[in-house]
Amino acid sequence: MALITISGYPCSGKTRRTEQISAILEQYIKDPTYEGPLRKVISLSDDTLHLKRASYDDSGSEKPMRGTLFTAMQREMASDTILIVDSLNYIKGFRYQMYCAAREMKLRVCTVFVVATQDLCRLWNKTRKDELKYNVETLENLIFRYEEPSSMVRWDSPLFTVLWTDNIPPVSQIWEAITKGAVKPPNSGT
Ligand code: ADP
Ligand code: MG
Repeated sequence: MALITISGYPCSGKTRRTEQISAILEQYIKDPTYEGPLRKVISLSDDTLHLKRASYDDSGSEKPMRGTLFTAMQREMASDTILIVDSLNYIKGFRYQMYCAAREMKLRVCTVFVVATQDLCRLWNKTRKDELKYNVETLENLIFRYEEPSSMVRWDSPLFTVLWTDNIPPVSQIWEAITKGAVKPPNSGT
């Protein structure tokens, strides 16, 4: 039914935002007044797929990783599911490819751009456990190559930008976007 693509710099807070979004969407779905087709929220990430940070160190190992993510995404897309793809998703062409696959399955889509300053990403990376840490050079390289999502292109829109200073992502707007206003978020007050 819906695909939410998360995109942002390495260590910008993507997984943290995914957890927040997912928890609130689950509440909406489980609300007794909700009568739509959605039954579950699934998030896919490099970590849930056991893809190691070190695979980003060279393009030779990075490409098959995108393949694994794409295959997993196709496997999980379903009419009763909100699928959140929590990865860097920093290549425009890759986001386009995900968008096409989702539209082919008649899913509704949106993109969440998780923003933190480069310095904060560097700092947060430094303070992580080793297995969750990007190599410093890789982090710089990924920041340099990052292709920002744009609301001007159909495969990134609707686009929601969440800044590091934001308390909670705009989940009721995200819900509107992926249900196209067909069903109001239960108890959202709107
Ligand atoms: P990503 O999934 O983009 O790599 P994470 O969500 O795993 O990023 O966050 C990376 C680190 O930064 C974590 O240790 C997290 O606690 C910290 N972090 C993320 N967002 C914030 C924030 N807005 N304020 C403070 N710390 C944050
Ligand atoms: Mg993450």
